[in-house]
Amino acid sequence: MEIDAKLGLDVFKLDKEPHIVVKNEICSTVCVNRACLYVCPADLYELDDQHRIVVNWEGCLECGTCLICCDARALEWTYPRGEFGVQYRMS
Ligand code: SF4
Ligand code: SF4
Repeated sequence: MEIDAKLGLDVFKLDKEPHIVVKNEICSTVCVNRACLYVCPADLYELDDQHRIVVNWEGCLECGTCLICCDARALEWTYPRGEFGVQYRMS
């Protein structure tokens, strides 16, 4: 099975509050590589029309890659509360 098809099996139970928050004041003053735009396997990071970083946390796979790659520590990242977040299906 292709990876896109596998990811399509996943279910997301959304909490009211985001579990990832971007501190754009750090992004705009410190960051040089904007790694978050390239490393997320679900491609959830993007720039808005004012060139601010936005994360579409609703589709988060909870891998932690963005947190590890953000050298400037501009992310507030936690796992979703219990029972919320991604629910992986194997088949
Ligand atoms: S890598 Fe971190 S500091 Fe850089 S743009 Fe992304 S969230 Fe902001
Ligand atoms: S934890 Fe993983 S899937 Fe979630 S936003 Fe970060 S890189 Fe993307």
